[in-house]
Amino acid sequence: MSAQAQADYKDDQLMKNEFVSTYDTVIDSFDGMNLPKDLLRGIYSYGFEKPSAIQQRAIMPLASGLDIIAQAQSGTGKTATFTVGILSQIKISLQRCQALIIAPTRELAQQIQKVVIALGDYLNIKCYCCIGGTKLQDDIVNLQNGVHIVVGTPGRVYDVLQRGLIKPDTIKMFVLDEADEMLSRGFKDQIYEIFRLLPPSIQVGLFSATMTEETLQITTKFMKDPVKILVKKDELTLEGIRQFYVNVGGQEKGKYDVLTDLYESLSITQAVIFCNTRRKVDWLTSRMTEDGFTVASTHGDQKDRDGILSSFRSGICRVLITTDLLARGIDVQQVSLVINYDLPSNLENYIHRIGRSGRFGRKGVAINFILDDEQPKISELCRHYNTTIPEMPNNISEFL
Ligand code: ADP
Ligand code: MG
Repeated sequence: MSAQAQADYKDDQLMKNEFVSTYDTVIDSFDGMNLPKDLLRGIYSYGFEKPSAIQQRAIMPLASGLDIIAQAQSGTGKTATFTVGILSQIKISLQRCQALIIAPTRELAQQIQKVVIALGDYLNIKCYCCIGGTKLQDDIVNLQNGVHIVVGTPGRVYDVLQRGLIKPDTIKMFVLDEADEMLSRGFKDQIYEIFRLLPPSIQVGLFSATMTEETLQITTKFMKDPVKILVKKDELTLEGIRQFYVNVGGQEKGKYDVLTDLYESLSITQAVIFCNTRRKVDWLTSRMTEDGFTVASTHGDQKDRDGILSSFRSGICRVLITTDLLARGIDVQQVSLVINYDLPSNLENYIHRIGRSGRFGRKGVAINFILDDEQPKISELCRHYNTTIPEMPNNISEFL
């Protein structure tokens, strides 16, 4: 494809998204959003030229102080949506925490912090990341120096709030990234606990590619007549991501044979391989390493989670084996292939996992390994997301 054709293709992919929205204003340029000049400079220096569909719709309501529930396909720029909405409202002269952003994993919180710092570069924004697995003493020192925005995971954020290391009285904005996950069983109580410490008038923003009925129901308890921008579930898959399945037969070991056959194609680009358990991640990693394949892996039990992800981001390591820990939010633009070594155990995570490829209108491929008796699960995915998942063709490398 020529550069122009590629750009047009991206535009098509990003702009045709249909939303069900309670807010009709669409602003198709960053210039038209009445943003502070130094924020605009930050946006353009970061390389953004034109706002994506969700940015065109959700930045303005957020910037004007409204509560919002914003859903958009993975890889379409939700991070910058809430980041710009928040940055436009920060008073820089006030060196106190004015916005709190919560994400489900340390990796994602750190990634968001980087975006905030980059877009807020010309504003001299101070954004700090509070996550588990780090020294609390560092949080104490950094927070005492004064920060405008805190990004973090629920446990540590609750901890620093409780200890009075962040004073809630100046916090005006509260954003939950991967909101449906944050309000699901695992996290919900912790989020409520945090919420109870925040000022009652706080502005709330919820962001995710998936929003279940259940999530929407819960939000009525703590949001004030929010603007809702939603995507129908049958429009959630991205056409830029081609999906396939491979039936490996009746036995688990068939997966390994198919994977090793595919390895050469995998390492042409960057690939993420998802397994359902930490144990399987470890097993697959050592087995592949023994057989002479270069792979890296990470999961929740691991010590050096930071190092592995950085070397994957930089491209030093090209094939990453992981669990649903990295199913959501992680943005590595070079990833063009996702392999579900195991099918995910819930429908939502399927769309999050395959969305690690095809970022911001790029092309991607997702390959699902199934055992003989899992064929019905593929049909269920096709039905749920109104998509087709054909059998993987022999010339798969041509799609990568
Ligand atoms: P989401 O949270 O919706 O899955 P991200 O916020 O992670 O998506 O963004 C995906 C990628 O798109 C990132 O690499 C980001 O830098 C890029 N991106 C976001 N908005 C724009 C834009 N307006 N122009 C160009 N690239 C963008
Ligand atoms: Mg995201």
